[in-house]
Amino acid sequence: MERLELLYVGKAKRVFRTESEDLLILEFTDVATAFNGKKKGNIADKGAINNEMSVYLFNTLEDLEIPTHFVQKLGDREMLVKRVEIIPIEVVMRNIVAGSLSKRLGISEGFELETPVLEFYYKSDELGDPMINEYHIMAMKLASKMEMKKIKDLAFKINTCLINEFSKAGLKLVDFKLEFGRYKGQIILADEISPDTCRLWDMKTNEKFDKDRFRRDLGDVEDAYKEALKRLLGGR
Ligand code: UDP
Repeated sequence: MERLELLYVGKAKRVFRTESEDLLILEFTDVATAFNGKKKGNIADKGAINNEMSVYLFNTLEDLEIPTHFVQKLGDREMLVKRVEIIPIEVVMRNIVAGSLSKRLGISEGFELETPVLEFYYKSDELGDPMINEYHIMAMKLASKMEMKKIKDLAFKINTCLINEFSKAGLKLVDFKLEFGRYKGQIILADEISPDTCRLWDMKTNEKFDKDRFRRDLGDVEDAYKEALKRLLGGR
């Protein structure tokens, strides 16, 4: 499948049209941003790592009958995906307290939550992605009640699957962000699953293998991304 014109430039990905109306090409770049774009940098080979990790995890989810936008890996940094209408909600699932939840509730990072916590944020760079609930979502017609039921159900199933995958890799899945889209009347998982969108801590030492190394200037960012992928793919 050939890459045609550039449709959209995101913070870390570029999206190209293809000869098929239903398919797009995602290109993962090495650009890293944090704090709503205020901090910018480059993480060597991040594009290839995030592509590879997303391909592996989308395949794993598809095997469990969780529908995703993934069609095929095309190159080191590129995948072919179904063209969805993105629902403008960031769906965040948390198993362990970290980041904004720690600040908001005054609970130390690392506290293991009794049950997973699901949160929604309105995707808006202008507003800085404010947290919203299902009433806001309904009132703003961002998604229907039926669609939200599906999104919540998929998010919990995905959490179970990802916890399992990362635990085999010796990593704790602290939290992560998902995006969903509409495709031919169905809700499917879109975007990516990578160290950019997940917090991943070493099972024993709690060492960070994710974007917090970039956000918090902890150093060895490239190596952490590489190690997370290597552990996940294991013997493969
Ligand atoms: N996250 C993301 N994109 C965003 C905001 C959050 O991928 O725009 C991910 C983040 O990497 C973490 C989880 O969602 O795995 C929860 O992030 P949090 O709300 O703690 O915000 P942060 O501390 O990252 O600002």
